[in-house]
Amino acid sequence: MKIMVCIKQVPHQDARLDVNAQGDWIQEDNIKFEINQYDQHALEAALAIKDAGEAEVVVVSIGPDRVTQALRTGLGMGADRAIHVNDDEALQSDSLGIAKVLAAVAKEESPDMVFLGLMADDGNFAAVGPMLAQLMGVAHTTTAVKIEQNGTALSVERELEGGAVEVVEIAAPCVVSVQTGLNQVRYASLKGIMAAKKKPIDAKTAADYGLAGQLAAKTRTEKIYIPPKGEGAEIIEGSTDEVAAALVGKIKELGLL
Ligand SMILES: Cc1cc2nc3c(=O)[nH]c(=O)nc-3n(C[C@H](O)[C@H](O)[C@H](O)COP(=O)(O)OP(=O)(O)OC[C@H]3O[C@@H](n4cnc5c(N)ncnc54)[C@H](O)[C@@H]3O)c2cc1C
Repeated sequence: MKIMVCIKQVPHQDARLDVNAQGDWIQEDNIKFEINQYDQHALEAALAIKDAGEAEVVVVSIGPDRVTQALRTGLGMGADRAIHVNDDEALQSDSLGIAKVLAAVAKEESPDMVFLGLMADDGNFAAVGPMLAQLMGVAHTTTAVKIEQNGTALSVERELEGGAVEVVEIAAPCVVSVQTGLNQVRYASLKGIMAAKKKPIDAKTAADYGLAGQLAAKTRTEKIYIPPKGEGAEIIEGSTDEVAAALVGKIKELGLL
C-alpha cells in the first residue's frame, strides 16, 4: 500500500498579513509558514493507516525553497519519503496547474491512495482534490471526517450540511480530501525529527514531469485587498417594545417611512 499526501505550506495562522506592492498577493517576507491545517490531518490519516499495517507514505509539496521545512516536518511525523517540486512556473500557476503537477507525480509514483486537504488556508479554492482525481482518472471523495481502511478500499464518512454525515465506500486507486477535526494530529517527536534528517527529499521541476510550458494560469488573481471598514453599527438595547419603538424612530429619521 502506498499513500501519497499533498501538503501545501501556507502563512502561519498567527502571521500578520499585508498585501504586497503589486496588490496581487500577500507580502511573504518576514512571516512564518506552516503546513496547511487540513493537510496535517490528511497526513495523520495516512500515518494512522501505516501504523495499523503496511504502508509507505510519500509527502509531496509544490513550493519554493522554504517548503523543505514543511516536508521535513512531515518526515519527522513519520512519512517515509518526500518529493519537492520547486518550480516558478508551477508556483505562479492556478489550481489546475497545481493539480497537473500532482497528477504527474502520482503517475510516476502510482499510489493506491492520495490524501489531501479539503482546501488550502490561504487560497481556499477547494479545487485541487477533485481536479487531481479527474486528471488521474480515479474515484474521489471530499470532506472526509472519518476514514477506515478495508483492505484496498476505504469507508469514508463525509460531512454534509446541517450536521448530517454521509458514508461512502471507495476503492483504490482513489483521491480523498479531508476536513479538519478528522483526527488528532501527532507532533514530530525528537526521535522522528532526527530520523527525518536521513530520509530523502527528491527535488523536482515541472520539466522533470514533461510539464514545462504547460502550466500557465488560466485564472489570474487581479487584485487582493482588505475591504474598507464600514461605519459602526448601533446596537439598540432595551425591551422588545423599546427596541421596536427606537427602530421605527430611526427609520423615520432616515426618511424611509
Ligand atoms: C505568487 C503567486 C501567484 C499566484 N497566481 C495565481 C493566479 O494567477 N491565479 C490563480 O488562480 N492562483 C494563483 N495563485 C494561487 C496558487 O496557484 C494556488 O495555490 C492554487 O490555485 C491552488 O489553490 P489552493 O492552494 O487554494 O488549493 P485548494 O484546492 O484549496 O487546496 C486543496 C489541497 O490541495 C493540496 N495543495 C494545494 N496546493 C498545493 C501545493 N502547492 N503543493 C502540494 N499540495 C497542494 C493541499 O493538500 C491542499 O489542502 C498564486 C499563488 C502565488 C504564491
